[in-house]
Amino acid sequence: MNREEVFNFSAGPSVLPEAALDRAAAELKNYGGSGMSVMEMSHRSAWFQEIFDSTKAKLRRALDVPDSHEILFLQGGASTQFSAVPLNLMGEGGSADYAVTGNFAKLAAQEAEKYGAVRVAADSGDKNHTYIPAQEALDLDPKARYFYYCANNTIYGTEWHYVPETGDVPLVCDMSSNILSKPVDVGRYGLIFAGAQKNMAPAGVTVVILDKSLAGHAHPLTPKMLDYDLMIRKDSMYNTPPCWCIYMLGLTLDWLESQGGVAGMERIKSARAGKLYAYLDESRLFQPIAETEARSDMNVTFRTGDTDLDAAFVKEAAAAGLLNLKGHRVAGGMRASLYNAMPEAGVDALIAFMKKFEVEHHV
Ligand SMILES: *Cc1c(COP(=O)(O)O)cnc(C)c1O
Repeated sequence: MNREEVFNFSAGPSVLPEAALDRAAAELKNYGGSGMSVMEMSHRSAWFQEIFDSTKAKLRRALDVPDSHEILFLQGGASTQFSAVPLNLMGEGGSADYAVTGNFAKLAAQEAEKYGAVRVAADSGDKNHTYIPAQEALDLDPKARYFYYCANNTIYGTEWHYVPETGDVPLVCDMSSNILSKPVDVGRYGLIFAGAQKNMAPAGVTVVILDKSLAGHAHPLTPKMLDYDLMIRKDSMYNTPPCWCIYMLGLTLDWLESQGGVAGMERIKSARAGKLYAYLDESRLFQPIAETEARSDMNVTFRTGDTDLDAAFVKEAAAAGLLNLKGHRVAGGMRASLYNAMPEAGVDALIAFMKKFEVEHHV
């Protein structure tokens, strides 16, 4: 298939902006007249330092990150932060509150249990993670070292539409699958982290944005590579950072700015997902899975109720160039991931195909 014939609904790694890919292709073998690819240059070179600094500045501007907070570009994926967060923030004998609203939050809570006491502040597992608990339903410990939640549940297709109120307890948030899709009041968070491969860049860089006052209290056994204080002091370059991915993030941020930044993206993504949900609400064949108030604008989950028909849909859609619509194995059904770089034409094509499929299956 040609790229032009395809819309890629992959949950991650996922579609990147055409403009970013075109620019990377043009500069692949010779970055800015350096005679080198970004993949080939020293991370200590002036060439790369400029890429690093400008990418960091663009991210700070895009999310309006206050001076109290540092931006780190780390390796190891979002999953490594499941360990780094408790190692750095839990303290000796401390405990932390976790909202378990999906697979990744659960994995994070299980990892944290190795390092301290984990309290489950909420668990949506009673309804297969189809909803987000309300503020009143959160069982909060005022002495918790932090409150942890996952802003967008990539697998189940639910998204928090409010920021939890936790008093003096710092908020820690996994924003891997919805970062840069809307404005965020970064100052309200102790720590935000996100793997790049959903909305930012190729897999390989993890963005961590943290309140600097939280660093410096890591457990003595914390590996150096996971120590926020060390990484702040070394500006993410204790060792070789994921250079290429940082460069790609910079290109994505240029594109984001051309879309009106995160405010522009919020309008675009709401309209894009809104179209698909509107169709799902009227369809007699396809049903949305997540509860209405908890719907994610990034990952839209749905099903027919018949697993054979679901499989046929995924297969026929792929043949028509609508790729990667199979739901995650723990959730079943289908999932259309509509990250920032998904053009609205992709949703239009998906809806048109679903309507056709619906008619063909005589509902
Ligand atoms: C994809 C994802 C992860 C896991 O990311 P890795 O980089 O593969 O470790 C964690 N949390 C969320 C919300 C995700 O979407």
